[in-house]
This record gives sequence, C-alpha cells and structure tokens, in this order.
Amino acid sequence: MSATKSPTPGAAEPNSAPEPRPSNFIRDAMIEDLKTKKYGDAVIQTRFPPEPNGYLHIGHAKAICLDFGLADEFGGKTNLRFDDTNPEKEEQEYVDSIMKDVRWLGFEWERLCYASDYFDQLYEWAIKLIKDGKAYVDDLSAEEIRDHRGTLTEPGKESPYRNRSVEENLDLFERMHKGEFPDGSRVLRAKIDMTSRNLNMRDPVMYRILHASHHRTGDKWCIYPMYDYAHGQSDSIEGITHSMCTLEFEDHRPLYNWFIQQLGIFPSQQYEFDRLSLTYTLLSKRRLLKLVQEKHVTGWDDPRMPTLSGIRRRGYTPESIRNFCNAIGVSKTNGTLELAMLEHFVREDLNKRAPRVMAVLRPLKVVIDNYSDGQVEQMEAVNNPEDESAGKRNVPFSKVLYIEQDDFREVPPKKYYRLSPGTEVRLRYGYFITAKNVVKDGKGEAVEVHCTYDPATRGGNAPDGRKVKSTIHWVSAAHAIDAEVRLYDKLFSKEDPNQVAEGPGSEGKEFTANLNANSLEVVEHAKLEPSLANAPVESRFQFERLGYFCVDPDSKPAKPVFNRTVALKDTWAKIEKRGNE
Ligand code: ATP
Ligand code: MG
Repeated sequence: MSATKSPTPGAAEPNSAPEPRPSNFIRDAMIEDLKTKKYGDAVIQTRFPPEPNGYLHIGHAKAICLDFGLADEFGGKTNLRFDDTNPEKEEQEYVDSIMKDVRWLGFEWERLCYASDYFDQLYEWAIKLIKDGKAYVDDLSAEEIRDHRGTLTEPGKESPYRNRSVEENLDLFERMHKGEFPDGSRVLRAKIDMTSRNLNMRDPVMYRILHASHHRTGDKWCIYPMYDYAHGQSDSIEGITHSMCTLEFEDHRPLYNWFIQQLGIFPSQQYEFDRLSLTYTLLSKRRLLKLVQEKHVTGWDDPRMPTLSGIRRRGYTPESIRNFCNAIGVSKTNGTLELAMLEHFVREDLNKRAPRVMAVLRPLKVVIDNYSDGQVEQMEAVNNPEDESAGKRNVPFSKVLYIEQDDFREVPPKKYYRLSPGTEVRLRYGYFITAKNVVKDGKGEAVEVHCTYDPATRGGNAPDGRKVKSTIHWVSAAHAIDAEVRLYDKLFSKEDPNQVAEGPGSEGKEFTANLNANSLEVVEHAKLEPSLANAPVESRFQFERLGYFCVDPDSKPAKPVFNRTVALKDTWAKIEKRGNE
C-alpha cells in the first residue's frame, strides 16, 4: 500500500460546504464532450456496476457518488447494473442490500439492469466474432492457457487450437452451449494478439463452461461470459457515455474497446479513478466476507464494518458520507486516506443535526444532602446550540443523581477541575454543587459522593458572580433509563491491516491476525435522561461531553441499545491543523 496522502489538491476543504463541486478530469471530459456534442444530443449516461457478491462498502460509496453525482450535475442519467456474470458467488441477499444502500445514500437509478439480461445478446455477438474469425474454441486446460500466456517480459504462445476453421468453432461453441462438455474442458477465446504487450489482449477467455445455477437465469445457461467480455458490451447496450471504474481496469480498457470496435456497437468511453483506501480499514468484499463467515464480526452490518450497512448502523448519516466523497475527489494515483478524516465528516454533520442529551456511561451516585427528599425540578435544556429551531426540553433534577465516575476524584491530580472534596462544579442546566464526603465500598472504590448545592445557582450561574472551573453532566437516578451502550474502536490495530509480520511464528498468518481485540466494549448499565425512552432505531444524539450515539436495532422497549458513532475529539481537525502550520 502506498503512503498516506492528503486529499486531492483542489478538492473542497473538509470544513467548507459541498458546493460548488470540485472539478476533476472526468467532469472536465463530460464538459468537453457536451461542448463538442460527442454523443449528439444524448444526455450523459453513467452506471454503477456492482457485482452482487457482497455488501457495499465506503469505497463503493465513492464510486456511487461519482456515477450518480456527475450525471446528475449535467442533467444525465444513471443506471444501477448488477454485473452478475459469476453464478457461483452471487445471491439475492446481496442484490437487495445493494439497492437499499444506494437509496440510503440518497440516489435513485434511472434503470435497474442486470448483465445477465444481456446473455442472449452476448451469445449472438460471440457467434458473430467466430464468424468474423475473431474468436475460437480452445481445448487447452486453464493451467495450459496460463502457461501459454507469457509474462510482462515474454510474449505468449499461440494455442494449437487457435487456427480452427470457422465451421468447427461454430459447431464446438454451439455444443458448449448445449451442455455436451464438462466444466473446464473448453473455452471460447478472442483471437487478438499473443505477443501484445498488454496481457489482457493475449487472446482473453470470453466464455467458460460452468454447469451452475444462476440467481436470475436459473439453469438456462451452462456457459457464462467472463467479466471482461460482458462489461464493455453491457455499457454499450445501455448507451453509457462515461463509464467510470477504478484504476486496476485501466489495462482492460483496450480490450473493451477492441470488442466494441469489432462489433461496431455504441462506443462507451471508460475513465479510471483511484480506489479509496482508509487506514485501519479493509475494503475488499472477499476479506469482509471472511470476517463475516468466521464470525469475527456479528454480520455485514456490524457497526465496526466499513460496509454501508455497518456504517449506517453505527450512526453515520448519508450526508456525511456524500460530503466526504465530494471532498476527497478523484485522482489517477492510489493512496490511503486517514480514517480520522471520515470521522471528521460525520462529526461535522452530526454537530449540526444531532440533539444533545445527557447520559452517564459509568455511573457514580451523587447525593445532594441539602436538597429535599421528594422534590423534583424540571430544568430547561437546549436541544441543539447549533440549531435554534430544535427547541428546548425539560430534564428532571432530584436529590440523587448519577455523574460519570471519571468526573470525581477523591485526590485530584494537578489541573483536575472536576468534582473533588471541597471543590465546587456546575451541573449542566442545574446548580453548583460542592463535594463534602465520599462513601466507599470494601475495595476502597468510591460508590457515593455526598454534596451540597447552592439554591441560588439554579440554571448554572451564581448571582454573586463567582466562577467554577468545570461543568459536568448528570442524570436524575430516579428518572434514569437503563441502557446498553456499545463503544467501538478501530476494527484493526494496524494502519495497514494487510501487513502481517514475517519471520518465525508468523507462518500462515493473515489480515485477521491484525484484528483489534478491543474494538468493542459493552457498557451494560449506562444511565440516560428520560427523554430518550422512546427514541426510534437509527435516531442519533450527542451525549454531552461523550460523543455521538445512535439507537441500535437490538434495542428492546425497556432496554435501549446505543452505538457510539464517534467520540467528540476530532483528531482529523488536529492533523489538518498541523498540516497547515
Ligand atoms: P471489492 O474489491 O471490494 O470486491 P470490486 O471492485 O470487486 O470491489 P464491484 O462490485 O466490482 O467491487 O464494484 C463496483 C464498482 O465500485 C466498480 O466500478 C469499482 O471500481 C468500484 N469500487 C469498488 N471498490 C472501490 C473503492 N475502494 N474505491 C472506489 N471505487 C470502488
Ligand atoms: Mg469486482
């Protein structure tokens, strides 16, 4: 993996609004093509072409935002196309999840397409290529074909079957189609150039024999087109003007163009951009599938997963992901971005929209000795200082409260300004309190702090103007809701999860060896203010002083479960600040 890089030059600064959109080489090409009327009066037509063999991840979000975002900007259209040429790894579950995730991101496709809908057309075109002497049936085994292929420095060798007659090729291909031959016994290959410097042009395989059921075509076919034979023509069939994909397909472009030229069909133009990678994150469906299958995570939607379903469950907003994708832009070189940058965008978005509430993760009981036993006061609290229209709410205050264990020290270290014996602090939206004495358990741990309050400080200010150095959050014990809170950390402990140490003892180790054993911490009995009693699944809040949290679908009526989306501290803002100095 290459070095960590900063966002594309010219991309929007992370703190600025997403408009106007940063330009890039693909957008420039669109502007040019519209100007020169390269496609006549046709509108820009793009597509997002996932293979339904896994759930979408944040890397796909980048591709989706480009495909849909650019077409949209120029009044064009975008298809969602399932590239379903591989019957063995594809499932309806993946198709459904992909549609859900694209919509959740905020995009709607013009047409829903499947490469498998083009199987008949692709078959006819294969026959045309055979008739034109541009394709042949090869009896070499997969291994022999590999051996004949040559290397980057050595040319390939022609197959002994390469010069079969058109009649023989037509007959054999038809019999492949009819199911006369076993899997792997023959293939159809394009007849291009075994000495080409581009390995993809050395007579690539177009069709293979595979007696497998397909999720949409069932048992109709026992030969299946290879991705490289299906992809370019699928674009062409749909009239895709600008076909965007990641850089690893750059060397495949001459092959896609070759098929299009031989067949004389609509000339889609492919553009390649850099693949997103993030530190501490894996973006490969194959590896993510392994994490799911081996139960390193609870599923594709585990909130630690970089999948869109995981990120959604974690509490990310679609806006924050779109803003992130917009800011990172596209380039022609692969690099790795900081995970902290993605977190910065969700924090920035939630700061604007998430209501503030008070919640105590690790409760310590505070008893206010001079507050009347049965008294309850409603304290007015601001829902969102960033959004006046979010209004206010009442939070009940009473004699026994919970505060965060961290917010009390019997023996305060230097510069510790929170609660300690003799110091006065402000309870947010409440009163000033002063700690008097501590009740401890058998192990010497504080279990209860006795305090006094100053009734003149209601709402948080002293009429005599005296100041306190710290404000802490709290919930009323009698009114608190018990909740489970799941705190997440990075799923991998290495910046590059694929990097596995070499040497004795590391044989056979792979990326799973880099999983972070502490990526999930479950807090069983957090205490929440009562306004959260009926918070719907997926609703998001800022727990004051702690971070942003979101209601998990595991919630039960009497026992909500919250996921921490992200803590409040913004390491990306710091990194960025350092970079600008
Ligand atoms: P994976 O390696 O995760 O399996 P893939 O490229 O095989 O990904 P596809 O389903 O073929 O997955 O991807 C659909 C589209 O998304 C393609 O155009 C692909 O180029 C793009 N894409 C996939 N991963 C990324 C990524 N990390 N960054 C940007 N675009 C991506
Ligand atoms: Mg792929």
